[in-house]
Amino acid sequence: MNLIILGPPGAGKGTQSEKMVETFGLVQLSTGDMLRAEVKSGSEPGDETKNIMDLGELVPDDRIVAMISKQIDKPSTVKGFILDGFPRTTVQARALDAMLSEKSLKMDHVIQLVVDENVIVERLSGRFSCSECGVGYHDSFKNPVEDGKCDKCGAQEFLRRSDDKPETVRSRLLAYREQTAPIIPFYSDKGVLQSIDGMGTVEEVFDKINEIVAGG
Ligand code: AMP
Repeated sequence: MNLIILGPPGAGKGTQSEKMVETFGLVQLSTGDMLRAEVKSGSEPGDETKNIMDLGELVPDDRIVAMISKQIDKPSTVKGFILDGFPRTTVQARALDAMLSEKSLKMDHVIQLVVDENVIVERLSGRFSCSECGVGYHDSFKNPVEDGKCDKCGAQEFLRRSDDKPETVRSRLLAYREQTAPIIPFYSDKGVLQSIDGMGTVEEVFDKINEIVAGG
């Protein structure tokens, strides 16, 4: 099963993708995570990527498409994959279409998380993750069970993303409205888009995703 999870920054795409990975054994292909790994590697393209990300702008389409194509080809995607943060422009959506038909693959579901943009800044500014295993937490909604200790791996260091600062969040939302929102009609015209309310609890949203997936 292959799916795309769409929605603005802070809609919960990463959280829901993590749950899909646990439940269905899918591979999460998050272009944001891949780019953050590139930045962390300290390479020269990583420096350039960091500048783009810190401005809340988008990395060039050709780089992103090549990155995703390489990941889809890995044997680990045998049970399927979930695209999180990709496609983000109509150029990427069309390139994905062409790429999938070349590889004789298809997208089973395109799920849009609909959220109120006013709550996004709060959601993003409160989030942090384990520095070791990457599991996500939130100051208001999901703290570790034992204060300061990761529930999954026990590590005691946490990270906050530099692009979750309010001014960068505003640029990211603008990039979403101008460049990513136009792909919604692209998928609804194809008849594959399913939109769900992304404002409930993590479990409520996950239940809705499960209903869609169970529906075939
Ligand atoms: P995310 O973790 O999905 O919120 O992505 C963080 C940042 O990485 C974005 O603000 C962009 O700068 C960059 N990025 C992630 N995915 C893409 C993509 N598909 N196309 C272009 N830039 C991307």
